[in-house]
Amino acid sequence: MKSFEELGLDSSILKALKDAGYENPTPVQEGTIEWAIQGHDVLGCAQTGTGKTAAFTLPILQRLVDRNDKGIKALVLAPTRELAMQIANSLRDYSKYMRVRHTVIYGGVSSYEQIRNLRRGVDVLIATPGRLLDLHNQGHVFLGKVETLVLDEADRMLDMGFIHDIKMIESLCAEDKQTLFFSATMPPDVRKLAMGILKDPKQLDIAPAEQKVDRIEQEMYIVRRDRKRAMLNHWLENNPEGQVLIFTKTKRGADRVEEDLQEQGYRAVAIHGDKSQGARTRALGDFKKNKARILVATDVASRGIDVDQLPFVINVDMPENAETYVHRIGRTGRAGASGKAISFCCEDDRDILHEIEKHLNLEITKTTDHPFVLLDNQLGELLEKPTRGGSRSGGPSRGYKGRGGRSGGFSGGNRRGGAPRSDRSEGSRGGSSERKFDRDSSGGSGFKGKSGKSSAPSAGGVKKKFFSGVAKKKN
Ligand code: AMP
Repeated sequence: MKSFEELGLDSSILKALKDAGYENPTPVQEGTIEWAIQGHDVLGCAQTGTGKTAAFTLPILQRLVDRNDKGIKALVLAPTRELAMQIANSLRDYSKYMRVRHTVIYGGVSSYEQIRNLRRGVDVLIATPGRLLDLHNQGHVFLGKVETLVLDEADRMLDMGFIHDIKMIESLCAEDKQTLFFSATMPPDVRKLAMGILKDPKQLDIAPAEQKVDRIEQEMYIVRRDRKRAMLNHWLENNPEGQVLIFTKTKRGADRVEEDLQEQGYRAVAIHGDKSQGARTRALGDFKKNKARILVATDVASRGIDVDQLPFVINVDMPENAETYVHRIGRTGRAGASGKAISFCCEDDRDILHEIEKHLNLEITKTTDHPFVLLDNQLGELLEKPTRGGSRSGGPSRGYKGRGGRSGGFSGGNRRGGAPRSDRSEGSRGGSSERKFDRDSSGGSGFKGKSGKSSAPSAGGVKKKFFSGVAKKKN
């Protein structure tokens, strides 16, 4: 493994990295920084949590050492304002010993301040595509000098319907620019976009499941849909320490969980697409400073949430697909820390449960020794593995030992199965905005009625199995 010094970074950058406490480059940094400094285009399959922000910002800064010429020389496109702000914060930290001017622009807020910042002069611009094009069309941004273009979370940008904006922005940058293209997943539409933009790219593949799941202990609580609220209270009572990030499927669900937890006396805040930017920034700030113990979020709002040392993620609602699951649980276990991901798996979550296990090639510990577990027949149905055509096989799945067992009824632990990792299904991509998570106007979280606090015994039976991350370098 190479050190940051060996990657050819300037001493001012090295000093900032030391201040940040970074000792060695992560695999995505080792690959990308070297190639980017050499001038190659890069196609990186890597997620948030792998250190990819530094992977693309450090070479940008390296190119800016001792430069005095005016104009935007690097442009980073990101899907959401949270991620854009996160990138800006990282850039600020890494460039603290340099004279590099950067600014961040995103929609949903007044553009007045953003235009003022642009007028002051910018070397590195971080932007969401829609607002950038708006300001460009109004004549506030000139991109013709952009020599490094970064597309971060390209798959998400495509999901959000930004493909034409991206192509347009790309065409406005200098023709001989370098492009660094990152995506958590590489389905055909993303690859097609990449190949239309990149010139003979070097490719880096940080296998997502292995990277993200590496240090995360996973557990499924098998719970009746109408008792999720009680289950959450029960879990929180038994786990009084540590910050918790809770995911819900819908914005309404997030509000309900937040309200309910606040009523119980928990310091809980929520973020989702219907909250004002101010409210989102405040909530995230409170969570980062540990003024709030619990943050409730929807998937889109959670993009870019970067909280070091976050011990728990709870999926109160199961995610839409296995890759979202990996994204969600990857909020814990970051940058070398360990973490735990808990999911509430209900009677109608059979398909997603098996999709996740197949995707991760892993059997996740199921916990049933709590008061809100499914009835036996529902439990058996839930655990039946689907056959290829979608029909059910007879009998419960391997690993099921029945209800009431001391170990929680399932002894398998996070066991790796023999099935190959499934590719992301196109069908699971679907909608283009947060609205797609709001289909269930009732909230979807089972957080409807009120029930009393439970005093049931602590759930147990957690087994762990880790596997190590491998970075595969191509080219
Ligand atoms: P990212 O994937 O860019 O969101 O980074 C995930 C987390 O890892 C952030 O909290 C970074 O500050 C941290 N990080 C990035 N690179 C390193 C490194 N080389 N050593 C230690 N921590 C890092």
